[in-house]
Amino acid sequence: MVDPGQKARGRGTRRRSAAPEEFQDLYDHVLTCSKCGFCQPACPLFRATGREGHVARSKVTLYRDIIEDRLQMSPAVKDVFANCLLCRACTDSCVPAVKTDEVVISFRHAYAERFGRGFLQRRVFRTLLPRPRLMRGLVRIVWAFRKTGLIEAARRVGLVGLLNPKLERALELGAEKPGPLLRSRLAKRTRSPKGEATGSNDRPKVGYWMSCGYNYVLPEVGEATVRVLERLGFAVEVLDNCCCGLAAYGYGDRESAALLARENLRRLGDVGRFDAIVSECGSCSGHLKEYARLLAGDPEWSARAQELQGRVRSFSEFVAERGDLGVFRGNGAAETGAEIVSPAECTVTFHDPCHLGRRYQNVVDQPRRILSSLPGITLREMEESDSCCGAAGTYGVLHPETSAAVLDRKTCFLRDTGASIVVTECPSCMMQLKLGAQRAGLPVSVLNISQICDRAGQPKPPGQDATH
Ligand code: SF4
Ligand code: SF4
Repeated sequence: MVDPGQKARGRGTRRRSAAPEEFQDLYDHVLTCSKCGFCQPACPLFRATGREGHVARSKVTLYRDIIEDRLQMSPAVKDVFANCLLCRACTDSCVPAVKTDEVVISFRHAYAERFGRGFLQRRVFRTLLPRPRLMRGLVRIVWAFRKTGLIEAARRVGLVGLLNPKLERALELGAEKPGPLLRSRLAKRTRSPKGEATGSNDRPKVGYWMSCGYNYVLPEVGEATVRVLERLGFAVEVLDNCCCGLAAYGYGDRESAALLARENLRRLGDVGRFDAIVSECGSCSGHLKEYARLLAGDPEWSARAQELQGRVRSFSEFVAERGDLGVFRGNGAAETGAEIVSPAECTVTFHDPCHLGRRYQNVVDQPRRILSSLPGITLREMEESDSCCGAAGTYGVLHPETSAAVLDRKTCFLRDTGASIVVTECPSCMMQLKLGAQRAGLPVSVLNISQICDRAGQPKPPGQDATH
């Protein structure tokens, strides 16, 4: 890393920059941008809107202009940096591999440091998310209020959209009430009389990391994941984790992200008791692998963060690495003489979540290997399968129009596959793809990879037809 003082001296007579100190750390890096524009066609926002302001080149140029005192941070500049999915598609197509996501996070962090963070945002990241009990209580209240039907009625007559289009979009994404939260459902399932994890003690032990998206909105996914891990012969302990902190990090709130990381390390205790910590949320598994970097300067927690990082696996990464895929073809069940449900033939396609795929965890072949091993399934690749779907955490809620334009493109490619099921490994992507299919009138189901595994190779329930 270059000494900032040295850089300032090297620039001779130029007056001291009013840019945030932290920008200096990335100065040499942004200087490598040649403005070639290779990042332009790669950017999902540019593809959807044609706006140069969305492209990495524009962001990197503005960042450099601030360091070199040609530009001040302002709300208009903030808008440019707010419009980024942090998908890294630009970095992937850039010869010097300019890390636009780091540039964007740095800007968001510095802007909030200078102009302050909203009260609500601070409370959510620093008070609510580290306390899952509080969060669960709030979610239950929100669902109970929705159950009254008042919100849906207001939405139907356009009142919600009139008040705030972002709220309209948020309601559209989580339209179905999920019933009991995942944590309550799994509490019944996993507690043995001694409070131990399910499965015998000599089984390899897996910690199941519960993502907020599955806990609060898509609990059936988490149930399927735990069932599959148990079918594969692992003893599963449901972890008492809180939010992984990726949302806070994406907002440039590094302090809250570090706070959530430390809180999770405290809650997890000694992770050495697990063979692996598994999540079927690509965003969570990806961000947990970043804890060591996030806490690198923290002598109390960095070693534990590194240990955690070494044990975290995405669901498909873990199953492809450690699971017996024959179980999904009925091995084991068939050996006991049970009749296996024959799956209906279907065509399936896979959407790579940004934080799971090539540009973050590089988990690309594993889900495809699993899908190809499932009986009755034809895997058909989707064009631009690893292009962001436009959900990107809260991006879809905060920028509903641009997000919808990104989603439209994804939905067209989905339609072209002719698949009846799109599989992915992220709750945000699942909700977004479902929305895209609904809007386009596509008869396509959206499943997590653990759900499609859960359905495969099952013994036939008594009195049922042998196909499904
Ligand atoms: S960010 Fe990379 S790809 Fe984009 S203009 Fe700069 S050098 Fe070229
Ligand atoms: S990270 Fe993604 S959305 Fe952001 S500028 Fe790069 S390609 Fe565009």
